[in-house]
Amino acid sequence: MIKKTSDPLDLFDVRGMLDDQERMVQDSVARMVDEKVMPIIAKAFAAHRFPRELVGELAAMGLLGSSLEGYGCAGMNSVSSGLICQELERGDSALRSFVSVQSSLCMYPIHAFGSEAQKQRYLPSMARGETIACFGLTEPHGGSDPANMKTHAKRRGGDWVLNGSKMWITNAPIADLCVAWAMTEDGVHGFLVEKGTRGFSATEIHDKFSLRASATGGLFFDDVVVPEENRLPGAVSLKAPLSCLTQARFGIAWGVIGAAQSCLAQLLDYTKTRVLFGRPLAANQLIQVRLAEMARKITTAQLLVLQLGRLKDRGEMSPVQVSLAKWNNTRAALDIARDCRDMLGGAGISVEYAPIRHMLNLESVVTYEGTESIHQLSIGRELTGISAF
Ligand SMILES: Cc1cc2nc3c(=O)[nH]c(=O)nc-3n(C[C@H](O)[C@H](O)[C@H](O)COP(=O)(O)OP(=O)(O)OC[C@H]3O[C@@H](n4cnc5c(N)ncnc54)[C@H](O)[C@@H]3O)c2cc1C
Repeated sequence: MIKKTSDPLDLFDVRGMLDDQERMVQDSVARMVDEKVMPIIAKAFAAHRFPRELVGELAAMGLLGSSLEGYGCAGMNSVSSGLICQELERGDSALRSFVSVQSSLCMYPIHAFGSEAQKQRYLPSMARGETIACFGLTEPHGGSDPANMKTHAKRRGGDWVLNGSKMWITNAPIADLCVAWAMTEDGVHGFLVEKGTRGFSATEIHDKFSLRASATGGLFFDDVVVPEENRLPGAVSLKAPLSCLTQARFGIAWGVIGAAQSCLAQLLDYTKTRVLFGRPLAANQLIQVRLAEMARKITTAQLLVLQLGRLKDRGEMSPVQVSLAKWNNTRAALDIARDCRDMLGGAGISVEYAPIRHMLNLESVVTYEGTESIHQLSIGRELTGISAF
């Protein structure tokens, strides 16, 4: 018997491949996004405001550090964490960015590379959303080449002294804690720098056209003294921050599907009710081809991340697979958002409709956590054994 699936956002019944627990997580986050995020997000985007009032809700649902074990974290599997990102980004990439940074870029390195005292001190309050963190890796002279890091840390007695600056840092203006990466005599090390530490300051980047509901800023270290007990003992090379990026990129590859689904859902409604030349827009072959293209891209992206999640849960996921998924899915979502914007006509430039907001957000998502070109070069290196960058 042929099973007829009727969900245009899930043509291959990917949901049917989830277990009960995963479906339950997806449903509860979807409900929260519909009830709490959708009513406020367009205004927050227009006002260039991070909706901080949602942090308590995210924490209460166990969405901060959701895949980590212990220390007040929910210990969910990777597929569930991916679904969380997907549903949050259906609301807005800013929300998923907040959760990715807090969970994958800040809680993960403390969990993976921190001392027991650091884990006890920071992780529970980060899981409760009481401590907001940022991840300082990118520097003003070029984020694609983190090995050329200028921010440095020098030993002084039992302490470290940090000097330098970071740029384009999500959460920087609102963070209580910074996971800062700095070059030392023996490679890159990670430091936990608390807000209020002398010589440490953050600024906000205003007037972004993208991720307007996210707080982004710069970080400045001017002879900042950090005790040895705030250095991540297990992070002893650039591999440490890169492993955090692998975690976060996994979430992005899932998240952007939500943005694409949000655009397609709104467009399907619109094209069925908008009447031009005496018939619904959706009745035109040219429109249907473009809708079919979107369904193809969403389906491919869904299947790709589901397999990626299963590999991650088995401990078999590789960074190059994550690069391919981040590249493919973000490009697909960006193309879909741009095309939906176009098919909405003039209405498509209004913040009332989600596609232009998602489209503008995805311009950041395609750049951060490794630009498209850098992921392509990583895959090229894997295929040829030759590094072209
Ligand atoms: C909204 C937002 C939030 C961010 N949040 C964070 C954060 O929380 N923490 C953090 O550390 N960083 C963050 N970033 C920084 C982000 O990771 C960087 O912007 C990204 O890595 C690219 O670095 P760049 O902007 O310096 O561009 P560049 O590295 O200067 O790249 C410019 C262009 O050159 C291309 N390019 C570079 N090298 C090559 C090459 N060898 N061959 C071909 N093309 C090449 C790139 O693909 C790109 O198109 C954020 C960025 C944005 C926009």
